[in-house]
Amino acid sequence: MELIASLSASVAKIATRDAADRVVVMSQESLLVISAHVGDFVWRAGGAIALYTSRGHPATVVCLAYGERGESARYWRQGMDLRQVKEKRHEEAVAAAEVLGADLQAFDSDDYPLMESPGLLERLVKVYREVRPSIVLTHTERDPWNRDHETAHSMATHARIIAQAAGHDPGTEVIGAPPVFLFEPHQTEYSGFRPDVLLDITEVWDRKLDAMRCMEGQEHLWDYYTDVAARRGTQAKRNSGPNLGLVTDTKAEAYMRMYPQVARELS
Ligand SMILES: [Zn+2]
Repeated sequence: MELIASLSASVAKIATRDAADRVVVMSQESLLVISAHVGDFVWRAGGAIALYTSRGHPATVVCLAYGERGESARYWRQGMDLRQVKEKRHEEAVAAAEVLGADLQAFDSDDYPLMESPGLLERLVKVYREVRPSIVLTHTERDPWNRDHETAHSMATHARIIAQAAGHDPGTEVIGAPPVFLFEPHQTEYSGFRPDVLLDITEVWDRKLDAMRCMEGQEHLWDYYTDVAARRGTQAKRNSGPNLGLVTDTKAEAYMRMYPQVARELS
């Protein structure tokens, strides 16, 4: 496992000028998060999003569906109909994205089942080419408890490859090879999830908690994902050695790499 404060080892440098007209070179990264349902980007990647936006990097969140049928039981029990549930989940997603500082794109596909389609794939390819992400976050390939998450993974990774193809929509510019980090599924063991990266999100934990509390329809998960962050934080401390000085109540998110890390040195 690797403990890091940044998800990308190699980032583009951009030059800008400060108020005194001095040239300032800074890293510029762009985060793209592809989430099956509205809650997923908050529970699994809210810390990463807040961390990057707090440093001035843009983050785009695509929610393929609202999770209106499969992840909104509280609202169905309250007697809401489909339109009302979608509206409620949309409000929650907008509020959470605002707390995290992300741009939200809600595709409003059906859920349970979320189905892969050429049209949906093409919309995702367009997002890739517009956002030009340096980092991509999405679901794991396997999630036996939630096939929509598997479908989201399939489309997110398929669209990335298509967006790299010079012959696809040749009027637009192809993307490079942004690393893909798979976020932690609800039940890890049967999903083949092994944490390769523990991202220290302590400095933005309050914002992640605020974003989680926007998800009123899934209140039962607030404490659960607080516990997950504390547990991953404990593992981060254990794997960072005694000299990094991580605080006692470190919070972390776990990610699994999909492709090899490209580096000029081992670190
Ligand atoms: Zn979900």
